Amino acid sequence: MTSRPANWYSDTAISAPERPPLAGEARADVCVVGAGMTGSAAALFLAERGLSVRVIEAESVGFGASGRSGGQLIAGYAAEMATVERLLPEARSRLYWDLGVEAVDLTRALVARHAIACDFTDGHIHAGFKPRHIGALEEMIRGWEGYGYPGLEWLDGAAIGRAVAAPGYLAGVRDRRGGHLHPLNYTLGLAKAAEAAGAVFHESSPYLGHEETAQGVVVRTPAGLVRARWLILAGNAYFKDRPRGLAATVMPVGTYIIATEPLGEARARALIPGGEAVADIAFVLNYYRLTRDHRLLFGGGVSYSRIDPLSIRRTLGATMVRTFPQLAGVGLSHAWGGHVAITVNRLPHFGRIGKRCLFAHGFSGHGVGLTGLAGKLMAEVVAGSEERFDLMARIPHLSFPGGRSLRLPLLVLGSTWLRLRDLL
Ligand SMILES: Cc1cc2nc3c(=O)[nH]c(=O)nc-3n(C[C@H](O)[C@H](O)[C@H](O)COP(=O)(O)OP(=O)(O)OC[C@H]3O[C@@H](n4cnc5c(N)ncnc54)[C@H](O)[C@@H]3O)c2cc1C
Repeated sequence: MTSRPANWYSDTAISAPERPPLAGEARADVCVVGAGMTGSAAALFLAERGLSVRVIEAESVGFGASGRSGGQLIAGYAAEMATVERLLPEARSRLYWDLGVEAVDLTRALVARHAIACDFTDGHIHAGFKPRHIGALEEMIRGWEGYGYPGLEWLDGAAIGRAVAAPGYLAGVRDRRGGHLHPLNYTLGLAKAAEAAGAVFHESSPYLGHEETAQGVVVRTPAGLVRARWLILAGNAYFKDRPRGLAATVMPVGTYIIATEPLGEARARALIPGGEAVADIAFVLNYYRLTRDHRLLFGGGVSYSRIDPLSIRRTLGATMVRTFPQLAGVGLSHAWGGHVAITVNRLPHFGRIGKRCLFAHGFSGHGVGLTGLAGKLMAEVVAGSEERFDLMARIPHLSFPGGRSLRLPLLVLGSTWLRLRDLL
């Protein structure tokens, strides 16, 4: 029986087959660990190149962040480009930016090319509610337009009021290239497309470790092993039994989502008439969007401590009503949480372990777009073109200080400070 987290996505998932666990020995060009968006996209791009692929997933396709996500397709990276510019020479910074834009277009293209039924909807709005957010949004537009990004629309106080029926916003930026989707169905759709191209997925098949050999890698699961030329690690924040070298550069951070009962089309549309996804630009941000069945999915409340709030419904429900007072008294049908993998500099971490193993993780809340790109670039390396993957891998990453035990208290302190900054 396939295990899935209980949430609105699993209740509205497209049908998917049970994928039997790996049993015995298998051979493949590539073994992929983890069937979220990253692993499923990698499998798709590899299989489309005619390579044989085995995907081993500890739980079920989309079990991790990909089946819990806010589903917002956001252009750019979680860090400012100034961070990239400090780390890479100018020409490379531009290429790095271009890859971030390619990621957004690629996601849209994957949905269209494989006819993935994931309710893809155009448009994303970044919204600010503090006077200092206005300057930050202006800075964002200048920065993105400096890199040639077209079509951003400035929303002044009146315009953001028309775009989002929440009284607190002072300004916003609409990005028509962004959007939102049903992340579990997107992931299931990628896996289905990969299988149609020849990839083989195994669920309930946790990676237990691997060895590099002269021919490639040997990957172990409880009931089998895969001999492959290449290994791709795509376990991200949910990675159990992760190999050394992966552990310290990403931190799993808790974030939560509630779903309202269906509001009816008119009431839902009145909240966000253009139907865009919306995220505010606070340090501890809230993000929300409408669903096809006219619910509001409202996310936020990051907790770096990995201790889930006693009641997500109560705390996040109160935040939702502060944002949209007209939703006071509306029933909530679902509440769930998940872990986002963040890096110290908030840029994704791409890299290698040994000669035959690639990984990409730490998308820092921008994974809906960047995961497809990660899969594509890892497939390019296997096919012999390393340049674009290596550009992403050039970004240096620090480990979170203190190892796993100390990282948690440090991040609790950090998140408390961020919350205080949001109050100023
Ligand atoms: C609540 C929430 C809201 C979010 N909102 C947004 C958003 O609005 N926009 C955005 O861009 N990003 C968002 N994100 C982040 C985004 O969802 C992730 O970046 C993305 O889904 C990561 O995909 P992935 O495939 O790399 O990882 P995952 O989806 O986590 O997949 C990893 C897979 O590896 C499997 N695995 C783990 N260990 C093993 C093992 N030992 N062997 C085999 N398999 C293993 C797991 O079971 C899992 O299925 C959100 C995340 C969460 C949790």
